[in-house]
Amino acid sequence: MSRSLNRRLFLTGTVGTVAAATLAACGGSEKDDVSVADVEAGDFPEGSTMAKLNEAGSIKIGTKYDQPLFGQAGPDGKPLGFDVEMGKIIAGALGIDPEKIEWSETVSANREPFLEGGQVDIVVATYSITDTRKEVVDFAGPYYVAGQALLVLADNEDVTGEDSLAGKKVASVDGSTPAQYILDNHPDAELVPFDTYSKCVAALTNGQVDVVTTDNVILAGFKEADPDKLKLVNDGETFTEEPYGIGLAKGDDDFRAFLNDTIQAAYDDGSWAKAWEGTAGSVLPTPEPPELDRY
Ligand code: GLU
Repeated sequence: MSRSLNRRLFLTGTVGTVAAATLAACGGSEKDDVSVADVEAGDFPEGSTMAKLNEAGSIKIGTKYDQPLFGQAGPDGKPLGFDVEMGKIIAGALGIDPEKIEWSETVSANREPFLEGGQVDIVVATYSITDTRKEVVDFAGPYYVAGQALLVLADNEDVTGEDSLAGKKVASVDGSTPAQYILDNHPDAELVPFDTYSKCVAALTNGQVDVVTTDNVILAGFKEADPDKLKLVNDGETFTEEPYGIGLAKGDDDFRAFLNDTIQAAYDDGSWAKAWEGTAGSVLPTPEPPELDRY
């Protein structure tokens, strides 16, 4: 297949055998059910991050490793989930095979430092876009909007909403917006900080804390994994807005525009919905894609 014919052609896992064989010959991939664009460095502005990543043939992506549905290490150690699929969509638009992504675990508190230090090129990790974070990093998106909620043991009757947190031990994660929300709005609750949400949930099941708080969709993943023991307060009622963005180094406006274009294209060609349905959508309803904030 000539490059001109194949240029900008996005390949999907649903292509037929003949097409798939042709694509393999062209260096395309249908592995992982994601699209890999046939692009080369010259298709991007000279010196841009897109050109550099395309030339390198790999991209470093930070994500969560302990959050069911969004980013969780699989049996082979590689992460699985909706954020992981979003990362593969970005890699694919850069012409990078998903197998060539260098994944690393970013916990909530090290996402900005990892972007600032260049340990990762992008972060896709249930990462809320906030003005404070925008002082040191930039964001494309949002590609999903979550909201803060509460998780308790299934037999808990006295935590009925955020107004019942006084005197309660509330676990959340250092460097997260939900932990900050508790500090700012519920000084009479006792915030018990951990570095990951799986540790918060372990503290809940062993009786060390009364509540875990973070985004509804993260809590829904943990509840789904242990439905007899855990309960979402008021069926996961939310009390904040958490717009998930793709974090990138501050000031790289071309790359940010490219990431936004790629998210928009994934909305339009159905790959965003497919990524959702194959991951978080096993538990959560398919949302409307949120409008991008091209600030
Ligand atoms: N979305 C929130 C945040 O970015 C909570 C989830 C998380 O810590 O990853 O802080």
